[in-house]
Amino acid sequence: MAGILDKIYAISPTWLQNFGVSLYGLYWKQRRYGGDFKKYVAEFKGREAYSFDDWVAYQEARLRQLLLHAYQHVPYYHARFVDLNIDDHDLQVFTAADLQKLPVLTKEILRVRQGDFLSDDLREKPATYKTSGTTGTPLAIRFTREGDHLAQAAYEARVRNWTGVDYRMSRGMIGGRLVVPKANAKPPFWRYNIFERQLYMSAFHISPTNAPDYARALNHYQPDYLVGYASSHFFLARMLDEQGISMYQPQAVLTSSEKLTDEMRAMIQKVYRCEVYDAYSGVEVCCQASECEHHRMHISPDVGIIELLDEDDQPVRPGVQGRIVATGLLNFAQPLIRYDTGDIAILSEKSCPCGRQMPVIEELVGRIEDTVITKDGRVTVRFHGIFIGLDNVKEGQVVQEDYDRFRVRLVVKPEFGDAEKKIIYDRFEQRLGEIDLEFDFVDQIERTESGKFKAVISRVLRM
Ligand SMILES: [Zn+2]
Repeated sequence: MAGILDKIYAISPTWLQNFGVSLYGLYWKQRRYGGDFKKYVAEFKGREAYSFDDWVAYQEARLRQLLLHAYQHVPYYHARFVDLNIDDHDLQVFTAADLQKLPVLTKEILRVRQGDFLSDDLREKPATYKTSGTTGTPLAIRFTREGDHLAQAAYEARVRNWTGVDYRMSRGMIGGRLVVPKANAKPPFWRYNIFERQLYMSAFHISPTNAPDYARALNHYQPDYLVGYASSHFFLARMLDEQGISMYQPQAVLTSSEKLTDEMRAMIQKVYRCEVYDAYSGVEVCCQASECEHHRMHISPDVGIIELLDEDDQPVRPGVQGRIVATGLLNFAQPLIRYDTGDIAILSEKSCPCGRQMPVIEELVGRIEDTVITKDGRVTVRFHGIFIGLDNVKEGQVVQEDYDRFRVRLVVKPEFGDAEKKIIYDRFEQRLGEIDLEFDFVDQIERTESGKFKAVISRVLRM
């Protein structure tokens, strides 16, 4: 059915597409902000005053509910608990520290056993959201209406509200939905949803030639705030800056889904003359972190329990990078317990001047997919720095062909020269030792299927 609708959408005129986008928006508006949404927002806000002990108590109470539910109603987990000799009595006194007794759930297991993760006591057909798995095969994430309301309330209370905006305000979104079918290369590259007052802009069509069309739409609708992929907002902002196009002033720009570097933040701020706030979550909503007014990124302990683990699944200390493994506390329709998100972060020991006793993430380092691997097994992620300060590099992508063979694909300005090549090579050498490095100059770097920019591609197989 969705396939047929997509085909009809693709061949419809723009006005009809706007109408379709609006109807779709009306459905989602009701789905997201109906039911107990407002009550949940108030509860999320109320918990921000919790002490550290309050948070531990809250998390453990919710964790026990989730595990008991999973034991009783979710076939995959029932079998795991039986294997581990854990019964409902054990689960009633389960603590967050006990989580280490449970196995880590990989995306691959979730993909292969998808049906077994669904609760058997659902009274409604859950909505399905797609997210990419490790091999590119999409994973289906299911939420009931109540789960959706909880997830939306967490986003409202901790992402939007912390930046001074709310769900009723108009927004300008850059995202990976195919609102402008690929083949259609003529403007406009956006559609407008009247019910949500949302300007939805394609992440796929951002280019120097098309940038003025994006600017016209933004300056015409003047959405209260902007949201979307960090790299899309950054690339668009830089093109607007280079072309000297002046932009209206939104209240805030909310980025997500990708690493937001200091350079990206500064450029977006320069063009829109407002604050940029980064947030971290995922389609699975098994964890959430977002920047407060002091731009420190707090974990929301009531969305999920985050563990940061090393390669042997042991917890890492603050200041040391680890894989984010999360146990979602909102979604009982498809519980995800110790779910390996594939993201890497560093926890901070410092508290935040805002006073919230919610743990702070020092840095979101990136995704496992954005890493390269060395012959001695080191996984290196800090490749975002490789092009920093090189003003003649417009876009750069690192491709690892083999352990010691790399290619950089570059979109450069005409002034780019040997001195910059040398800097890039030296930075590789600092990180990896002696390697072969090839330079590939291209007109553009293609985006992924969901419209994201991939900073690193590794073709080296890993375990
Ligand atoms: Zn804070």
